[in-house]
Amino acid sequence: MHEMSIALAVIEQVEQAAAEHGAQAVEEVLLQVGELAGVVPQALDFCYELACADTVLAGSTLTVEPVAARARCVDCGREWAVGMPPDLACPGCGGARTELLAGRELQILQVRWAADPVLARADQEG
Ligand SMILES: [Zn+2]
Repeated sequence: MHEMSIALAVIEQVEQAAAEHGAQAVEEVLLQVGELAGVVPQALDFCYELACADTVLAGSTLTVEPVAARARCVDCGREWAVGMPPDLACPGCGGARTELLAGRELQILQVRWAADPVLARADQEG
C-alpha cells in the first residue's frame, strides 16, 4: 500500500530526529502533501496510526498540509492550477511544454515534541 510506505518513511525520519533531539514523545507531525503525490488522506491517517504503535510517535497527530498543483507554460509563461485529474495543456496557448511548479511535495515540515517531563514523571511515580 502506497500510504503505508509513506507512513513508515515519515515515522523513520521522525524517529531519527527524536534520537538526535533526545525527545521522548511526539505531539504532532506536520506533513506537506502535494495534490499530485497520490495520497489518500484517510488511508494515510489509518496507516500512520497503525505504524506509530510502539514507537516514539505513538499517540501523535499527523497533520497534512495540502499543496495545490501548479504548472507553467514554457512557451507563453502562463501559470495555472493543474487540478485533479491533472490538466497539463496550457489554457492560454494550448502548448504542451509545461513545467510543474508545485504538487509533488511529500515532506515533513515540522515536528512538535511532546512536553516529556510530565510523561517521564508519571512513569517514575507509577
Ligand atoms: Zn502557453
